Amino acid sequence: MSGVKLTNVRKSFGPLDVIKDVSLEVPKGEFGVFVGPSGCGKSTLLRMIAGLEDTTGGKIEIGGRDVTAVEPAKRGVAMVFQSYALYPHLSVAENMAFSLRLSRAPKHEREEKVREAARILQLTDHLDKKPSALSGGQRQRVAIGRAIVREPEVFLFDEPLSNLDAELRVQMRLELTRLHRQIGATMIYVTHDQVEAMTLADDIYVLKGGHVMQSGRPLSLYDDPDNRFVAGFIGSPA
Ligand code: ADP
Ligand code: MG
Repeated sequence: MSGVKLTNVRKSFGPLDVIKDVSLEVPKGEFGVFVGPSGCGKSTLLRMIAGLEDTTGGKIEIGGRDVTAVEPAKRGVAMVFQSYALYPHLSVAENMAFSLRLSRAPKHEREEKVREAARILQLTDHLDKKPSALSGGQRQRVAIGRAIVREPEVFLFDEPLSNLDAELRVQMRLELTRLHRQIGATMIYVTHDQVEAMTLADDIYVLKGGHVMQSGRPLSLYDDPDNRFVAGFIGSPA
């Protein structure tokens, strides 16, 4: 069963071909990591899956449903960004509930979803605080909480840890792995950091210049790279 499937997906910005014929499948419930150098098209690909960029060509399926022309809110995805842009004047609970404002669910159900997300993310004691009273790691958790309350089929993460210091990044990696085990949703995570890719991924997809160079289990890429780029990038010293 496929969580997210891309078939011959392309994207051009004017004369610039940013994504060149990408076909890949992230199985349902897996943690897939797109890794590659800056400018290779990772964010563009993720934004296309989210529906924030239209496709120049190809097909995008989520849970077996063709969503290529479906609006972002109806794709069953939630995206967590690098700059987590919380509303400074709203409390943690209000920030998390904000993404539910368009939902028709009654208030008590929305509050229950926020409480559940806070429990998963260990933010229960911070629900009434303003973002300015939180640490960087806690703020990033609130941003993840905003995605969790929407109960998406697919979580999309665009370098969510790159603003955090090294120690906190290690801790948040463990938390993301725990979150994935607990929620079991399909997750796609974009990063230029090889260590992050190796530690988080069920499957890694190595991108370069708008192409997938190789994909597979982290250790199989490490032990058996198809080419010099993958070898150099994933960092097997042999
Ligand atoms: P990555 O996330 O891997 O660093 P991006 O997907 O952000 O790469 O960008 C890939 C390429 O597409 C870059 O050359 C970037 O300048 C270009 N690009 C991204 N968005 C736009 C846009 N809206 N208009 C024109 N070029 C863009
Ligand atoms: Mg990017």
